[in-house]
Amino acid sequence: ARPRLVVIGGGAGGATMARYVARDAGGAVDVVLIEPTRTYYTCFFSNLYLGGFRDYDSLGHGYGGLATGGVNVVHDTAAGVDRDARTVRLASGPDIAYDALAVAPGIDFRWDSLPGYGVEHQNAMPHAWKGGSQTQLLKAQLEAMRPGGVFVMIAPPNPYRCPPGPYERVSMAAHLLTQINPTAKIIVLDTKKSFSKQALFSEGWAQHYPGMVDWLPPSITEGVQRIDVAAMTVETGFDSFKADVANVIPAQKAGRIAEAAGLTDDSGFCPIVPATMQSALDENVHVLGDAAIAGDMPKSGFSANSQAKAAAMAVRARLTGSRVFPPRYSNTCWSLIATDDGVKVGARYEATGEKIASVDSFISQTGEDAALRKQTYEESLGWYAGITADMFG
Ligand code: FAD
Repeated sequence: ARPRLVVIGGGAGGATMARYVARDAGGAVDVVLIEPTRTYYTCFFSNLYLGGFRDYDSLGHGYGGLATGGVNVVHDTAAGVDRDARTVRLASGPDIAYDALAVAPGIDFRWDSLPGYGVEHQNAMPHAWKGGSQTQLLKAQLEAMRPGGVFVMIAPPNPYRCPPGPYERVSMAAHLLTQINPTAKIIVLDTKKSFSKQALFSEGWAQHYPGMVDWLPPSITEGVQRIDVAAMTVETGFDSFKADVANVIPAQKAGRIAEAAGLTDDSGFCPIVPATMQSALDENVHVLGDAAIAGDMPKSGFSANSQAKAAAMAVRARLTGSRVFPPRYSNTCWSLIATDDGVKVGARYEATGEKIASVDSFISQTGEDAALRKQTYEESLGWYAGITADMFG
């Protein structure tokens, strides 16, 4: 029988991994992908939907391309992993055996990180940090906000998926509100003292949305202490903030199945071997994307896609004896601040014995001219089209 690769999670990392192994092994590996949802809605570009630059349907990707590409797509949830027996238990009942396993479940939330806020409150105060309905809800709430209302965001502590994501979201919310509710205010209660591309976002907010955005670090607020969902208030050590719309993004950890499979460490994420993305705890398992501790690489869709290609090469080599080359990891995170005002940060990475280490990096500069910013935005459109085709076929 052909050796079998089972992939848990059909997001940025898992879909890429399944597709690449099925394609490049020429049928020599039986590839099974386990993913509960029928349509994957990307978090990447979901802020552009919020800002009115994309429609919702453009974020959705089905699994037909993977199925016709030779992947056995099983729409189910992985309920458990027996690493000794090398089987995955499906929520619907059966076990499925693997020779190699890839675990790419993305993130779950630390529901105890913000007192007063739990999973039962995610409709009253959406996190919108997983794709799909939560993003639609947050947009609808912003559109319905009373004139002059206050949008409060609680930005998460490190490490979390998409370091510039909260601040791109602030930009896109400001863009929307400037048009439909120009006296509205945005207050960001941050759990960090600084953030990704801070100088670029601060410059953009002052330029495009003067007076609308207030970013408050813990040195000012003394930290978020408690959320009262019924009263729509956030208590900090210093003050109480009343929200008309609240976007609460809790602290994060690897998707639960990674923890259940015993692949996480005390950080809540999964240690890996830098050159192959193999779990540091089990050589038969690869961990991809947000669930992994990927050294200097940020948690992003671009990173997950890049890691999946390295892991696909390593798995093929192990299962079919094909050649391995040193992995080439890279990432770029684009953010849109306002119409045609795109910025980016990125790097290339190498696997050292110790970690995935940044070898060179770049970042947009403050004061860049409008033509360059427009070009950066257009580059991001090409990236989205290209990478989603690379993931889903
Ligand atoms: P995911 O893409 O989340 O995929 C995980 C999949 O696993 C899901 O489909 C889930 O259903 C499935 N799953 C979970 N548990 C199980 C289980 N037990 N059994 C079976 N399946 C399971 N990244 C960028 O590169 N560029 C951007 O511009 C960008 N913008 C972002 C903006 C926002 C607002 C957010 C929130 C994120 C953004 N990201 C961006 C980050 C990006 O979305 C994530 O880093 C990326 O999706 C991680 O890929 P992943 O494969 O690890 O997880």
